[in-house]
Amino acid sequence: MSTPTSARRIVRRGLTVWLVLVGVLFSLVVFAGVYASSEAGLMDGVRQQAKSLTQLIVMTRHWNAAYGGVWVSKSRGAVTNPLLRELGVEPDVRTEHGDVLTLRNPALMTREISELLRRSDGASFRLTSLEPINLANTPDRWEAQQLRAFVDDDTPKETVTEVGGQRVYRRITPLYADSECLVCHAARGTRLGDVRGGISVDVPLGALDERRRRDAIWLGALVLAGGSAFLGLIYVTTRRVTRQLEAAESELSVLATTDVLTGLANRRTILARLADEHERAVRTGRGYGVIAIDIDHFKRVNDRYGHACGDAVLEHLAGLLRDSLRGYDFVGRTGGEEFLAVIPEAGLDVVKGVADRIHHAVRDTPVECGERPIRVTVSIGVALLRDDEAAETVAMRADEALYQAKREGRDRVCVAPGDGSPGDGSQAHAGSDT
Ligand code: GH3
Ligand code: MG
Ligand code: MG
Repeated sequence: MSTPTSARRIVRRGLTVWLVLVGVLFSLVVFAGVYASSEAGLMDGVRQQAKSLTQLIVMTRHWNAAYGGVWVSKSRGAVTNPLLRELGVEPDVRTEHGDVLTLRNPALMTREISELLRRSDGASFRLTSLEPINLANTPDRWEAQQLRAFVDDDTPKETVTEVGGQRVYRRITPLYADSECLVCHAARGTRLGDVRGGISVDVPLGALDERRRRDAIWLGALVLAGGSAFLGLIYVTTRRVTRQLEAAESELSVLATTDVLTGLANRRTILARLADEHERAVRTGRGYGVIAIDIDHFKRVNDRYGHACGDAVLEHLAGLLRDSLRGYDFVGRTGGEEFLAVIPEAGLDVVKGVADRIHHAVRDTPVECGERPIRVTVSIGVALLRDDEAAETVAMRADEALYQAKREGRDRVCVAPGDGSPGDGSQAHAGSDT
């Protein structure tokens, strides 16, 4: 059977397990929440970058188209755009100073800037169309799908896909034919306002994912450390509170079972011990004795020396009782100046011996209180367990023997009638002030 303390330990262990589970769950939720919000933040940033790139390239194309193309010097490595010749435009001109200039139309400019960007940043964009003039602008499967979808819904489309083991954010924005576009595209049937194609932007997420992985490890470590610290705090607090509760409970239990003045067992406890001993004796067939003790004329002690000295006498007597008993005997205070001792596994000679020891010890040891030593005596009744007798009856007979001792003049030990040794004559008291 578990004691209240061990039951509480089990409860505490259960509580600890729950706390750990809640802590782990809480940490996981926090981790998942922060991770998800960091993913959302990351995607927002990438989306903004893609939007800005798209806007920038659209503006740059407008700027280029507004001037009908831009001439650049061939001496700096610019290559002639052969497609322009196919469209009937001569891309190269020689200036009066002998420099050769070549024309950069919006499409070629877009491709060259994209190439520059790809080399510096990894991100890239391009023009794509379901009917490309330059075959290099032929859409891939995803782009083609979105370009077809623009016919019904011309909002930009985005996706995240896996390319070469790394995630890539893709965004495609419809491109409308304006008057500048028609310079080249009118011949192919394109009309003003048509969705002529799209600007497709790819932003590789590898570097960002790597940073996010590192952040996740830090975040995990942080959540783990925070969670552990939190759990540790709760554990320590619970432990401390439990210990305080245990201490308070054991204090309460002492208060409930102990006589405050003398520190001996109180009436309820000594009677419970008597009941236990009785049960054991019935089981084993080995008897026990009960000794009832009452201070003689104690009222006079109080009257003459004061209540405090009366208390000192009671404490003193408690000490003598403890000293006179064997290790496994029990003693308790049953009333004002009345005490009861239970002497397990003992016959008359042992019980009587203990009673005599108490009797003499009290008479021979005055109590120091105030100016004069106080001398008191006690009357003692002894009873031994008889066959088929209840514990209460043994205690009652010890009490009766005690009153017999009082009647016979106090300051003596009386054995209950019938419990004395055969031929002990009076059978009323088996001891006196010998
Ligand atoms: P007897 O020899 O017949 O036993 O006489 P007695 O005076 O000892 O018995 P009585 O029952 O008349 O008085 C007991 C007294 O014990 C009365 C009460 O004031 C005193 N008493 C009870 N409890 C305490 C206590 O805790 N402290 C003190 N100082 N006195 C107590
Ligand atoms: Mg009394
Ligand atoms: Mg008394």
